[in-house]
Amino acid sequence: MDEISPIVIDFKELASSQSTDEELQQLLSSNNFSLKIEKQHFPLEDIHLYCDISQKQPRTFVPKNMRQLIFKTLHFFCHPGISSSIDLIAKRFVWPGMRKHIKSMVRSCVKCQRAKVMRHTKSPIGTFSPLCPHTHKFYRSSPSF
Ligand SMILES: [Zn+2]
Repeated sequence: MDEISPIVIDFKELASSQSTDEELQQLLSSNNFSLKIEKQHFPLEDIHLYCDISQKQPRTFVPKNMRQLIFKTLHFFCHPGISSSIDLIAKRFVWPGMRKHIKSMVRSCVKCQRAKVMRHTKSPIGTFSPLCPHTHKFYRSSPSF
């Protein structure tokens, strides 16, 4: 089972990383950022997480040490392109300069590079996730990046 979903976000770890994240502390003390960061309680996990509440849906602030993990968790699911990856992640999570950061991480994703080549060949649609059927098999064949 671990091979199918090798990466799981540990929100308890995220919460403890938030408390030591320098960037977040700076944001909280400066308050001149476009984000509106407030501590939110998540009863299901019984944890408190700093979230951006400037939008309808609260977005969890991701501390520096977990940004790559968050990216991998969401992007590696089916390797969407740059803008879809940004949409996917920005809906739930936030960190300063995330768009630029995600863009460069997608660009350096080996499987996405390979998928670009694969797009020129026909692939069966409907056997995998409809969101991005062409890359799913790469994710399965080598779960460790
Ligand atoms: Zn990718």
